[in-house]
Amino acid sequence: MASNGKHSTATALAINDLTVAYNGKPALWDVDLEVPEGVLMAVVGPNGAGKSTLIKAALDLIPRATGEVRFYGQPYVKARRWVGYVPQRSSVDWDFPTSVLDVVMMGLYGQLGWFKRPGKNARALAMQALEQVSLADLAHRQISQLSGGQQQRTFLARALVQDAQLYFMDEPFAAVDAVTERAIVGLLHELRARGKTVIVVHHDLQTVPEYFDWVTLLNVERIASGPTELVFTETNLQRTYGGRVSTLAAAPEPLAVAL
Ligand code: ADP
Repeated sequence: MASNGKHSTATALAINDLTVAYNGKPALWDVDLEVPEGVLMAVVGPNGAGKSTLIKAALDLIPRATGEVRFYGQPYVKARRWVGYVPQRSSVDWDFPTSVLDVVMMGLYGQLGWFKRPGKNARALAMQALEQVSLADLAHRQISQLSGGQQQRTFLARALVQDAQLYFMDEPFAAVDAVTERAIVGLLHELRARGKTVIVVHHDLQTVPEYFDWVTLLNVERIASGPTELVFTETNLQRTYGGRVSTLAAAPEPLAVAL
């Protein structure tokens, strides 16, 4: 059960038999996944396990060899309006000459249409989101002049204005300072409290039980998926990481560190 004590029965994301290969080599093999609405889910697995590939395949950004992905029963092409994506910070050209506010307003294009100029209302929504991530002061700064944590918060503000039902976030905690990490965790919990489903690629195994109520363990194949307290076990972690996991014996909860 989630820490908020309830899960609705709707399935936010359903993946069936998903196989993705690059140059004939499978990065994901026959993956099945059902994610209930309203959970905050970590996707965990070693480097190269296919975590980013899973997100990209779900969003039709890369071709699938086989398989089907449904958001609330719909293919992505029909569901894109409700699906938000926060890509890896490193995958973006931060030298592109644009302001923080403009990046955040891009989150509204799904609602505005690409060819409509954002008006006052759009600006107000974007500013509100920037305030939520404590970045309003930097709204007019060029994105090339942001720190890593500020870049990450810009992305989160963009996701917030999109007002999606389901969010994918690819390593939002990568290389952020402790203050930004707390801010992101707060935001994730707020999204869940608003009934959103949030799927996060996450590397720090120690914080999984604290931050997430649902977890998927992945290593090309799906190893396990479900409520954190049932799935995030030493046995499953060993199946995911092989011998490369040392558990902290004194820990009160299943807790592990990838070496
Ligand atoms: P993770 O996010 O778990 O680290 P990825 O999904 O990025 O894993 O990658 C899974 C596997 O697919 C890795 O072996 C990686 O090298 C390979 N891969 C990822 N993207 C490409 C690509 N564009 N072309 C070829 N191989 C790729």
